[in-house]
Amino acid sequence: MKKCMMLRLILICCCVCSFHQAYCWGFYGHKRINFLAVFLLPPEMLVFYKQHIRYLEEHAVDADKRRYAVPQEGPRHYIDLDKYGDYPFSELPRNWREAVDKFGEDSLNAHGIAPWWISTMLSRLTSAFSEKNSARILKLSADLGHYIADVHVPLHTSSNHDGQHTGQKGIHGFWESRIPELLAEQQWDLLTSRAQYLDKPAAFIWDRVLESALASDSVLKIEKKLSQKFPADQRFSFENRNGAIIRQYSSAYTIAYDREMNGMVERRMRSAILAVASCWYTAWVNAGQPSLRQLSQPGWDEAERAELEQIQTAWQKGEILGREH
Ligand SMILES: [Zn+2]
Repeated sequence: MKKCMMLRLILICCCVCSFHQAYCWGFYGHKRINFLAVFLLPPEMLVFYKQHIRYLEEHAVDADKRRYAVPQEGPRHYIDLDKYGDYPFSELPRNWREAVDKFGEDSLNAHGIAPWWISTMLSRLTSAFSEKNSARILKLSADLGHYIADVHVPLHTSSNHDGQHTGQKGIHGFWESRIPELLAEQQWDLLTSRAQYLDKPAAFIWDRVLESALASDSVLKIEKKLSQKFPADQRFSFENRNGAIIRQYSSAYTIAYDREMNGMVERRMRSAILAVASCWYTAWVNAGQPSLRQLSQPGWDEAERAELEQIQTAWQKGEILGREH
């Protein structure tokens, strides 16, 4: 009896852990997106990016870790478009200045600023290319990849971001972490065309954001419908992960949900990879296509090292600042 109680207690603890930190494509998805984006680049860029592919992969999740250390970080990862009326949300100006004039900066921040933040990061990356600053190119590429990937997740454009208003808590991690972790490696074809030059990068990003917003209703409705016909006792399973027992959506339920969405997660991930590569490429072209062949090895200064250490420690403490999304 005692043993049984103990086991239940361990499982409950594990459940709490398993849903914590399950945001923004999950760590697996972000790392994969930055990694695969490298292979869509032209040879002049590949020569540098391939050399540092492990950095781009590993630091694809710094932006999420920063949410535990920097209060302003949170809103950069999402935008609650449903706060601005109905699709295509015409009352929200796409231009930052016009949006600030209309709604005020505090209100915009409260509902997320992801598309505008991506434009800021893109221009910073362009400057880093112009300066041929290899450390900044890598850091900004890794971060930019993260934010672009985030806006490809439908629930990053909805205020019901974790199904909390519709009794579907946990759906955020289900869609963006559990599904790709289970299916991407074995079944998905994530590489398509080469990076494209973007004439109007801001408009391109808004288009991706609107696609996500359009899909967010289906993400919620399809799971709701499936949960009503799928046997309740088979929706979750306990699985061993790195020696710890965790409660998660069962493989059968995950596969069924993915099937009902007709490949949506795979399509959004593929689109994210292409968008990341295209934005890196566009920044490089706009900087005048500087040669990356003889860039010096990145030198991380004291301030950068300290920042990385700070976000790592804050993340390990696990206390997110501001709203989770
Ligand atoms: Zn994120």
